[in-house]
Amino acid sequence: MSGRVTSLQNPTVKALRALHLKKARDQTGLFVAEGLKTVVEGLDTGHAPQMLLFGAEAADHPLTRRAVAATREAGGEALEVTEAILAKVSRRENPQAVVGVFRQAFRALDQIEPHAAPCWVALHRVRDPGNLGTIVRTADAAGCGGVILVGECCDPYSTEAVRATMGSIFAAALARASEAEFAAWRDRWPGSVVGTLLAASLDYRAADYVRPSLILMGNEQQGLPPEMARLCDVNVKIPMRGRADSLNLAVATGIMIYAATP
Ligand code: SAM
Repeated sequence: MSGRVTSLQNPTVKALRALHLKKARDQTGLFVAEGLKTVVEGLDTGHAPQMLLFGAEAADHPLTRRAVAATREAGGEALEVTEAILAKVSRRENPQAVVGVFRQAFRALDQIEPHAAPCWVALHRVRDPGNLGTIVRTADAAGCGGVILVGECCDPYSTEAVRATMGSIFAAALARASEAEFAAWRDRWPGSVVGTLLAASLDYRAADYVRPSLILMGNEQQGLPPEMARLCDVNVKIPMRGRADSLNLAVATGIMIYAATP
């Protein structure tokens, strides 16, 4: 292991800190993943860290050693740093002992193979990174193929979204599309396209989910606009029996995903 870095001016530390900004993530195509478990999830799914920082407490862990070796093999820098640096990098008082930087892996819509999974999720203008990360995690857990971000969405590679995925950021395919691109692509979808709408009359349990299903979810505030709802074969609602006027987006997505998967 190399000597411990103590300076926030170290170029690798500076580059990693900058990745909290979307501009730096867009320019570099990189993102930050915190925690040894998440970093190992990246390794296990074939993603080598481009940079790695770790604290003294993690230095001798066999999985840290594996991550260090993979980073260096990939031509990246792996550095032991102080806890103060980890705290600054993570913007947390109790930081994770290992922080990795990985390459983003957005796919184009035409790289998605619909039959690779029974269900896929499309999110229109999702705004909350916690919701987005939770949905990516749920999609992975349920065996969905991935998540398609339609229109102006929050960044799945922000630190907050990545944290909420709990490692699933590496497992689920991610794609981005404008509304027009999505509309054209959806025409070739081989299964059901199911929209979710508070105003729909069909109960989600009564819908026909022809696999592979594509579930379209609306924005947290505005819901699914009529022009997006019209792109669907069917629109469904999840019944609400109490006084709440809607479900949280991530919760509603979880219910829909499990309704559409075997
Ligand atoms: N005020 C928004 C509206 O009028 O749709 C509420 C949006 S809700 C918080 C966010 C998204 O979750 C919705 O666009 C829809 O995709 C999904 N959703 C939430 N509750 C739902 C329900 N009961 N039935 C169907 N979809 C629901």
